[in-house]
Amino acid sequence: MKVKHSHTILLPQENLVGSGEATIVAPVTQLHLYCPVCGEVWAHFLSNHPTPRHAYHPLPCRTHGNGTVLLHFHLDSLSSQLLPREVILRRQPLLSNYGLPYAATSTNEP
Ligand SMILES: [Zn+2]
Repeated sequence: MKVKHSHTILLPQENLVGSGEATIVAPVTQLHLYCPVCGEVWAHFLSNHPTPRHAYHPLPCRTHGNGTVLLHFHLDSLSSQLLPREVILRRQPLLSNYGLPYAATSTNEP
């Protein structure tokens, strides 16, 4: 049986506050994500436990990686403040050529 735990999700750099149900974050844990490249603590997952345990996990920030929170949270449990952000991040490979079709960006086509 899968147990879900609601957490408040803070992304200070993006001025985003929302909530989501965690898949691997226990309810006693307040998880903070830091970027192994720049050291920025870019995400906080806060539970409402009275005596929480604080844990820090390395995960690249949006500048140095994908910056998704979906490793720890269900997409369908994210609140409306966070959902558009995650959907855009999932589409990032498609947007990485600035929306131009492949043929328009390739110079090797005959
Ligand atoms: Zn970084």
